[in-house]
Amino acid sequence: MPDSGLMPEPSLTVPETMRAWVLGGPDEMRLTEKPVPVPGRGEVLIRIDAVAICATDLEIIHYGTPALVDGEPPFNKDFTIGHEYMGTVAALGPGVDEVAVGQRVTVEVHAGCGQCKRCRQGMYTSCHNYGQRAKGHRANGFTTDGGFAEYAVNHVNTIIPVPDRMTDEEATLVVTAGTSMYGLTELGGLVAGESCVVSGPGAIGLLAVAVARSLGAYPVILTGTRESRLEIGRKLGATHTVNVREADTVEAVRAIVGDKGADYVIECAGTEAAINDAIRMTNRGGKVCLAGFPHDMATVDLPHVVKNNIYLYGIRGEGRSATHRAMQLMADRRFDATLIHTHTFALQDLPEALRHARERVDDAIKVVVKARGAAALCQEAAE
Ligand SMILES: [Zn+2]
Ligand SMILES: [Zn+2]
Repeated sequence: MPDSGLMPEPSLTVPETMRAWVLGGPDEMRLTEKPVPVPGRGEVLIRIDAVAICATDLEIIHYGTPALVDGEPPFNKDFTIGHEYMGTVAALGPGVDEVAVGQRVTVEVHAGCGQCKRCRQGMYTSCHNYGQRAKGHRANGFTTDGGFAEYAVNHVNTIIPVPDRMTDEEATLVVTAGTSMYGLTELGGLVAGESCVVSGPGAIGLLAVAVARSLGAYPVILTGTRESRLEIGRKLGATHTVNVREADTVEAVRAIVGDKGADYVIECAGTEAAINDAIRMTNRGGKVCLAGFPHDMATVDLPHVVKNNIYLYGIRGEGRSATHRAMQLMADRRFDATLIHTHTFALQDLPEALRHARERVDDAIKVVVKARGAAALCQEAAE
């Protein structure tokens, strides 16, 4: 029996149309009515209960990239973004018996094509057929419709059951934890007893601290500029924090891990200075994960990289079922991901939610939008 005593709903009535936000031109979001999508073979229809806003959503709304719809910029294509959502299984496509209608689930973003070389290696976030729907590729919120709507279709491979005791809000954070987990997986995975530095206390960086510590890394050092974020990092498992405004970051890290440098660095800031600091604080033969992506070309101290046998890993998204593994850590309460959830809005208030995320109003980190439940209902009543 599920531990909360909540039984899955036996069936959900699926309407023909739904409310959905679509991207107009740059910086233009419109609430509209769309047909509810129909799941195909191997797919599941999800009634979306909550969706978190990601920095990448803000990028897409402004620049279009990294979203691509049929190989073109995503503007004025009736396209719905949003990729960090969870909900309730509402209908099953042909051939699906892995989940049941009424089950609470969360999702990872990328369903690779399943037929290219990288998909076959488990690197489906690097699918060679990215954006080619005819080949079965989906990246909801990037190349196919996503979660700022009442329903979405997901490939069954991208679905992760949510434990009853986990809130909707917490379940939206799993894909972020999965991205952090994927970074550590690509660096070698088993980090117990190894030193790990995380630079940049955004959502991915903060959960990278939590995941690294849960996997036994020690010490785990978080570097950043804002004391409030470093404080959250300490609650999530950072054994040390360095305020880069107050200290020479590389020296401060070496003072903690020893002058040989750190074994692993997860770089989530994405600036040229932070990337060079990451390289210089890594020990010989150590590994750097580049998780934040710079907008422009960056000048990097490559002589130092080569002379010291430092490995650089660019990662994209959350491959190799990392999201499933991150969920297990969260289900086991190895860390409290809800520390990074700061705000909740109703679906119809998405523009205000986006503003909170973009301008970091009240030090917003993860802003969650709910299509259902108390937040959504009381907004409706107020109208
Ligand atoms: Zn995201
Ligand atoms: Zn593929």
